Amino acid sequence: MRPPDAARRANTLTDLDEAISVCRACPRLVAWREEVAATRRAAFRDQEYWGRPVPGFGPDGARIGILGLAPAAHGGNRTGRVFTGDRSGDVLYAALHRAGLANQPTSVARDDGLLLHETRIFAAVRCAPPENKPTPVERATCAPWLERELELLRPSLRVVIALGQFAWEAFWRTAPRVYPGLTGRVAFGHGVEVRTGDAVTLLGCYHVSQQNTFTGRLTPAMLDAVLARARTVAGLS
Ligand code: SF4
Repeated sequence: MRPPDAARRANTLTDLDEAISVCRACPRLVAWREEVAATRRAAFRDQEYWGRPVPGFGPDGARIGILGLAPAAHGGNRTGRVFTGDRSGDVLYAALHRAGLANQPTSVARDDGLLLHETRIFAAVRCAPPENKPTPVERATCAPWLERELELLRPSLRVVIALGQFAWEAFWRTAPRVYPGLTGRVAFGHGVEVRTGDAVTLLGCYHVSQQNTFTGRLTPAMLDAVLARARTVAGLS
């Protein structure tokens, strides 16, 4: 079943997660995720890779959404959980723990006991792309999953943090179908805040990639400030 039809049939986040995890709509990404899972990185040679699309992670009724680009080849594509098992996730989950939105600072495997509070993390594209670059067609093919996730979260969701330009653009392309009041696209920037006219606010944040965190473009203090603002907007502070 194609993503638009399968997404529409999902009436809960659990349904949606299951449908996403068996999607094979993008031939190039299916081939890549499975090749990576078969060849593996030397450090993970003894592990069985997930090698499938990576659904969102976090509870029903979350007030805060965190939108990333796509799973990493040896991160989410290995562990099966978004931002889990890679350096980006190390930074993000440590910050979520400092903000009181996660019960532990580390995220290494799907069975590591990590729980998020009031927060759900998801990606614009659900399969790991070569060089972290999905094509425009792949991006569009995957969009119905994000649209449905936003619809299912809509009753509770108060703020979405877009990690980086790609996620920001994905939100603006997709969210107006969920939030009709969302008009007048605003340019991405770290700390940019957009009140959408509906119940949800969009916050921009530099991506938690090594490229940003190793160079100091995104510091822990900057990330903490974004999460603190999200907590306030979501009515959690
Ligand atoms: S990127 Fe999205 S639409 Fe494409 S195969 Fe993966 S889950 Fe399906």
